[in-house]
Amino acid sequence: MEKDCLFCKISHGQMGTDFIYENDNLVVFRDINPHAPVHLLIVPKRHIRSVNDLSEADSGILAEMILTARQMAIREKVDASGYKLLFNVEKGGGQVIFHLHLHLIGGWDK
Ligand code: 5GP
Ligand code: ZN
Repeated sequence: MEKDCLFCKISHGQMGTDFIYENDNLVVFRDINPHAPVHLLIVPKRHIRSVNDLSEADSGILAEMILTARQMAIREKVDASGYKLLFNVEKGGGQVIFHLHLHLIGGWDK
C-alpha cells in the first residue's frame, strides 16, 4: 500500500466505499462523479501508478481487470447496448488519481 494514495485506501476498505464487486486482487465501485448512467472503476488492490508502469508480470491483473469489466457490464445490463473501457494515462491523458484504474462507462441508451 502506498501512503497518501486514495485508491490504495479505497481498495483496502479504509474509506467505507461500497464495492459492487471485490476479490483478492481488485475491487469495483461507482465513480463519485459519473460521466454516464453507468460509470464504474475497476481498481487493482496492488499499487501500480499508471499504464506506463505496467510490465509483463502484470499481464494477469490486466486481463482480470478487463474480464471483470465485462462481467460488470453484464451485471449493469449495458453489455448488449455497449460501453467504453478507458485508461487515462498520466496528466496529459486526463489521469488525476495515480493508481491504475479502468473506467467502465455506458448506459446512455439502455
Ligand atoms: P482519472 O481521471 O484518474 O482516470 O479518474 C479518476 C476518477 O476517480 C474520476 O472519474 C473521479 O470522479 C473518481 N474519484 C475520485 N475520487 C473518488 C472517490 O473518493 N470515490 C469515488 N467513488 N470515485 C472517485
Ligand atoms: Zn495506490
